[in-house]
Amino acid sequence: MAIGSLPNLAKGEFKSASSNNEIVVNGENNLSKVLHMSSGSGESSYAQNSSRQSSVFKSMQQAFHRLIQSLPVENSSGLLRIADLGCATGMNTVSEVDFVVTTIKKLCSKRGVSVPQLQVFFNDLPCNDFNGLFMLLNSSKPDYMAAGVPRSFYQALFPHDSIDICFSIMALHWLSQVPEGVGNEGSCLYNKGNVWINGGGAQVARAYAEQSQKDLRGFFRWRGEEMAKGGVMFICAMGRPNGVSAEQQVTSEGEYCGPDFEAAWDDLISEGIVKAETRDSFNLPWYFPNADEMKEAVEASGAFEIVKLEVCSGVCCMAEREYEEWVSDVECFGKKKARLVRSFVGSLVEDAIGVENCNALFERMERRSSEMLEKGLLHPSRYVSCIVAALVRK
Ligand code: SAH
Repeated sequence: MAIGSLPNLAKGEFKSASSNNEIVVNGENNLSKVLHMSSGSGESSYAQNSSRQSSVFKSMQQAFHRLIQSLPVENSSGLLRIADLGCATGMNTVSEVDFVVTTIKKLCSKRGVSVPQLQVFFNDLPCNDFNGLFMLLNSSKPDYMAAGVPRSFYQALFPHDSIDICFSIMALHWLSQVPEGVGNEGSCLYNKGNVWINGGGAQVARAYAEQSQKDLRGFFRWRGEEMAKGGVMFICAMGRPNGVSAEQQVTSEGEYCGPDFEAAWDDLISEGIVKAETRDSFNLPWYFPNADEMKEAVEASGAFEIVKLEVCSGVCCMAEREYEEWVSDVECFGKKKARLVRSFVGSLVEDAIGVENCNALFERMERRSSEMLEKGLLHPSRYVSCIVAALVRK
């Protein structure tokens, strides 16, 4: 299909991505209008492809549990407010909140105080499948009051001093936007030939680092205003160890959108399905901060005491058996890998090249992933590096 006939380009509301630094609709940053994890429960849905995030959360539970013990539940005045930032949808969301609720109940019983009313705010970008999430909550009959907050967590979300527990799992490596210039032909930051920071050179990496710092500072500043004194915040996201350069993020741990994803784009270009410039202006809005970078942003807010802030390498995201299955059948590996990647970046790819070409891209990826695994060009790991922060509102 020729690029000009893509449905979202044909509408005339879509500025050509190659003429701008970001994918832009009607002059505004498009990300918050487009990004969502794949909805529903199909084979490429987030709900069916998020066991890794769930495993990471389980690996981090103990630290979160310890942090919650410092919460002054005695002073709750009958209500505790909990916020899950970047909640997505599916059983991960439900079970992460259940963990927090159960921990609070146990803490209250240990301290001999009655359990306050619990209100949980589920935050994500507006395109998130909130309906799916609320249907799920409805069937699990939770003992808390749920509300959705559809807005970027890089903006104000709550009234001042209102949140007691705030947590964000595997979400803060998503930037608010692709850094200016990176997708812009003619800019010295133009990330030609790449779809992410990897291979993009030092200047591109610096632009991503600056965007991440700006975003993180905003995040902690808003949360500083919104959290009640003594409130606790727990963060876990993709991170990179100090000493690993930003350009090496993909090769170090985050191989999910690695060489097989890039090769699939190359295939579409060589087959004449998309133009090279379309690929060159497509960039993933991810940055995996190291501990120093996140610390800088937390400290700039002046609002939090740092209980723990570190990058943990070797966080298990897959059981050994699951991993053995994952890599033992190359054909199956390709299928699963393509579905996995589509579950989290599919909405961005569809927006850039349309649904039909997105289908084609992930078909190519399936093939490339299998082929590269067979040739020993991919080294799938069952471990990731995560940045973990446990903070208390001063
Ligand atoms: N916490 C969930 C989801 C992780 S996926 C889990 O543990 O499984 C990351 C989520 O962060 C996605 O749903 C994505 O839409 C959301 N996200 C990314 N950027 C965001 C932003 N600026 N504001 C709110 N949510 C965001």
